Amino acid sequence: MSEPLDLNGDPVALLRALIDIESVSGNEAEIADRISEALRPYGHLEVIRDGQVIVARTDLGRRERVIIAGHLDTVPVADNLPSRVTDDGGRSLIWGRGACDMKGGVAAQLSAAVRLTAPSRDITWIFYDNEEVEEEHNGLNRLAREHPEHLDGNFAVLCEPTNARIEGGCQGTMRVMIELTGTAAHSARSWMGHNAIHDAAAVLQRLSEFQARQIEVDGLLYHEGLNAVMISGGIAGNVIPDRCAIEVNYRFAPDKSPEQAEAYVREVLAGFPVRVTDVAPGARPGLDQPAAAEFLASVGGEASAKFGWTDVARFSAMGIPAVNFGPGDPSKAHADDEFCPADEVLICRDALVRWLS
Ligand SMILES: [Zn+2]
Repeated sequence: MSEPLDLNGDPVALLRALIDIESVSGNEAEIADRISEALRPYGHLEVIRDGQVIVARTDLGRRERVIIAGHLDTVPVADNLPSRVTDDGGRSLIWGRGACDMKGGVAAQLSAAVRLTAPSRDITWIFYDNEEVEEEHNGLNRLAREHPEHLDGNFAVLCEPTNARIEGGCQGTMRVMIELTGTAAHSARSWMGHNAIHDAAAVLQRLSEFQARQIEVDGLLYHEGLNAVMISGGIAGNVIPDRCAIEVNYRFAPDKSPEQAEAYVREVLAGFPVRVTDVAPGARPGLDQPAAAEFLASVGGEASAKFGWTDVARFSAMGIPAVNFGPGDPSKAHADDEFCPADEVLICRDALVRWLS
């Protein structure tokens, strides 16, 4: 038996304990067990376990309810476990898979959850699985489908890494496949075939010449991207290939709907066979909403645009304004050398406690 997680102690020690429970997407059972076990003794929280999703709620009959959510899974380990600590000129940094994306945020959430015994708004704390993989596995998505009552709220905060600053909205993301077909032939008689890999050159050239837009949405600046991310093709060393598939990822600003994004990609890649395989809408920043504005005022500082896709968009699709706010540098998410500064875990925990006290 491992030691129970200490939610009431040092949130940085808690972060290290969370990192040391490996939880690559699909393998969240242990971390979910340990967290729900640790939350149960706190009488102000009703703890609901549903698969690898944990919902912990206060029910004080407050006028408003906020949702504060974080995912428990990480991308695959890259020789970066167990956790370790270094000293960076007096600032301590916690290293290890998940430190930045997003166990630092989860530690801040858990530490705030047990301290906010009588919050000013009711709180639904959500910890969920399978965020780092395909949409269909996403635990928050499943919760929204099967238990929409748990996602009832006036405002949501996702504790994804933002350097402990508020980031509004997020970009949408779309993946498309361009499948080029040719005619297979023996390479000794190549004129009898048509080389599908050679046809990829025109697609790649179009993509490399493409200039991505930068656009302001609700006062925040978004920077788009359209890039080939995978390519496959070829049969053997002596065969003219009859197939080549290029996967393209489009990150689009939240002023576009998925339909508009698709139309745009089809326009840019006109003449090539484009097939959309996956799309997730973006979310407008929504910082003009009263609940968001109040959170902004209570945390302080300035808000900026979020570049990655996060589940903020899921809330925004349900009509709940949502922002990202969590410890760690988002550019370190998924990096083998990801880390989270200890002080940012405390800053985020304290900001949540201050806002809701
Ligand atoms: Zn994340």
